[in-house]
Amino acid sequence: MPITIPDTSVVRGLIDRTTIIKAKVVAIAFTSSGHILARATNKAIFGMGNKWSYHAEHMLVNKLHKLKARERYGKIFVMVLRWSRSKMDWAMAKPCSNCESILRKYGIEMVYYSDNDGNIVKHQSWKNN
Ligand SMILES: [Zn+2]
Repeated sequence: MPITIPDTSVVRGLIDRTTIIKAKVVAIAFTSSGHILARATNKAIFGMGNKWSYHAEHMLVNKLHKLKARERYGKIFVMVLRWSRSKMDWAMAKPCSNCESILRKYGIEMVYYSDNDGNIVKHQSWKNN
């Protein structure tokens, strides 16, 4: 399903392929007018013999908190993109259940993500919860 809000050209303009290809997963927060508020990638942190990995959406919400983005900008949209090096195309980037609850708790207006068909789709059940 094609993107309706914000318009496709705005969302296409947010795609920075270089960043995505390098990081594999990128989450981008933007306003309804397409103004980018923050970008984040997956991050692995090593310490005391352990490895913790933080998903891009989690890192993104941390940044939004620091920016006081909700208070300053109101409605915030998020797009999550995954690039598959083996397919050389977009791949499924639907937020996992943990990230979904982090994004919902922060009050993200709508989530878009790349799917396995190479499309960027709107999260169908976002407003139902
Ligand atoms: Zn996740």
